[in-house]
Amino acid sequence: MPRKLPALNADNRAFWQGGERGQLLICHCDACARYVHPPGPICPYCASFNVAAIPVSGKGVVVSFTLNYQAWTDELELPYVVAIIELAEQQGLRLLSNVIGMDPLLVHIDMPVKVSFLNIDDVWLPLFEKDQ
Ligand SMILES: [Zn+2]
Repeated sequence: MPRKLPALNADNRAFWQGGERGQLLICHCDACARYVHPPGPICPYCASFNVAAIPVSGKGVVVSFTLNYQAWTDELELPYVVAIIELAEQQGLRLLSNVIGMDPLLVHIDMPVKVSFLNIDDVWLPLFEKDQ
């Protein structure tokens, strides 16, 4: 069974396809200057419609994580890490992803990470690896 991919729409397309150009694109509100995730047409802080996806650094830290031992898809090597990443640009700007490219048992909270994209079909999944 292949990995289930997100359904693309006008709101989330930039987030899922920014990796084609090596960019992590996160919605940003021009009215209140806050980042917004998950992507949407309206700023949840100030209700402005002036929201557009812009590139961020792709750097962040692991806020929380879990080691998973259930192979939901064939491609998953066990165990694998599901983590909440807080991006460097804004306190509380978090996304759910995987930490890859290292021994899962060495992942820890507050570990610096940087984005790394996995392309499947027309989606570039933003995954994270340890940032030295
Ligand atoms: Zn706003």
